[in-house]
Amino acid sequence: MDCIFCRIVDGDLPSRRVYEDEDFLAFHDIRPIAPVHVLIIPKRHVESLLDISATDELMLGKLLVLAPKIAVSVGLDTGFRSLINTGHGGGQEVFHLHLHVFGGDGSYRTPI
Ligand code: AMP
Ligand code: ZN
Repeated sequence: MDCIFCRIVDGDLPSRRVYEDEDFLAFHDIRPIAPVHVLIIPKRHVESLLDISATDELMLGKLLVLAPKIAVSVGLDTGFRSLINTGHGGGQEVFHLHLHVFGGDGSYRTPI
């Protein structure tokens, strides 16, 4: 399996890390769509929301609880937008589950 986010977790590919714990990693998106744009990923390889089950409830809950903490830590203290693309039909490009957290100029009016 050749997953770029697993390679980032393993340290085989560089990333600008902003958070790490036993189960999660967050790093700056390489092609930001906002002044601040980070991705939060579980370290365990999970392809997408199409691949999760009830055993992932705790992981998914932790992911959402982490999001505002990480957002504030990168300067998005007045709020942020979050997004999960799921599957080819959802525009997903990297098939390792990730939560986009972005913001920074307050000018977002329409969903992406
Ligand atoms: P998605 O369409 O939700 O799968 O988005 C994948 C995101 O990963 C895009 O915003 C890319 O810019 C980002 N991305 C791809 N490769 C890297 C990388 N090596 N480091 C950081 N972000 C990346
Ligand atoms: Zn992976």
